[in-house]
Amino acid sequence: MSLQLGVIGTGAIGQDHIRRCSQTLQGCRVVAVTDIDPQQAARVLAGLTLEAEVYPDGHALIQAPEVQALLVTSWGPSHEEFVLAAIAAGKPVFCEKPLAVTAAGCRRIVEAEIAHGRRLVQVGFMRPYDAGYQALKAVVDSGRIGEPLMLHCAHRNPRVGENYKTDMAITDTLIHELDVLRWLLADDYVSVQVLFPRKTGKAHAQLRDPQIVLLETARGTRIDVEIFVNCQYGYDIQCEVVGESGIARLPEPPQVQLRNAASLSSAILMDWKERFIAAYDVELQAFVDGVRAGRVGGPSAWDGLAAAVAADACIEAQQSGAIVPISLPQRPALYA
Ligand code: NAP
Repeated sequence: MSLQLGVIGTGAIGQDHIRRCSQTLQGCRVVAVTDIDPQQAARVLAGLTLEAEVYPDGHALIQAPEVQALLVTSWGPSHEEFVLAAIAAGKPVFCEKPLAVTAAGCRRIVEAEIAHGRRLVQVGFMRPYDAGYQALKAVVDSGRIGEPLMLHCAHRNPRVGENYKTDMAITDTLIHELDVLRWLLADDYVSVQVLFPRKTGKAHAQLRDPQIVLLETARGTRIDVEIFVNCQYGYDIQCEVVGESGIARLPEPPQVQLRNAASLSSAILMDWKERFIAAYDVELQAFVDGVRAGRVGGPSAWDGLAAAVAADACIEAQQSGAIVPISLPQRPALYA
């Protein structure tokens, strides 16, 4: 029987996930939705010609007997209360990042899940499900380039709006690297420093862009991540691992190579949604398959906490210019 899903939040990613669960994935169907504006939720259902119950709020939806698992896709500050309510109801929950907007909120979720005794939470970090990152991790894990010594990474967007502030380079942009690089290296961060190069003339007055984030891991691997959100030319994700005996690079997304008018070229994507579209499908299918098989895997509440702790340190480092320590408590057995 299909897994019956309830979706809280029918904005951009919520609509995308409802469409995905209804039209692309196997073994699930959306039976309930809600949004702060229930009429908006009803319009989304109508647009997809989908029949599902519209609930007045997230808590009523979580309690609904027909809802077997939750997707939390509302705005970040509401995630913690819905994930805690799902755990209290004993229902598996896929929560878009961030798990909670503070590290303290993530800790409360970790504690609730530990008290429940088994994993119920998967966090919507999709990059570990991207085929390119999986291929890169396979090479790193195989030992073919030896121990990783340095990582050179970049996260570039063509441009951002006036509402994008300097700290969002961490909370909205770098947060994906904070998760995926920890997964790639199977290592934790111990310190961070943020440097601000000469500012681009293409950024709005209040935004410091670009930025360079320098992370160090427990095993001594050094990571530099360039965040440049007004680079103009495309949405470009780069990751190069320098090992003791070789270098491994994240593959470029497949594009036709063009020889034309005395030049050799290939297109660069402009939209972040296209870059990881397959990874979103794979991560949600993994959640559905896992729940149907009686286990939740993938990025955990602990990974959500680790990203939040590192992000807090990065923001402190943006403000102070200093090298800021990052310390996670001992990993609980549930997340071993
Ligand atoms: P969005 O378009 O603003 O959608 C959020 C929706 O949730 C809006 O319809 C909002 O209503 C609704 N909402 C807010 N509070 C609610 C509540 N208490 N109960 C029910 N609904 C509520 O934002 P989005 O781009 O979809 O992002 C949603 C979340 O997904 C964010 O945490 C974001 O960081 C994450 N996200 C992750 C990725 C990824 O790559 N993994 C990509 C995109 C987004 P109002 O508009 O009326 O406030």
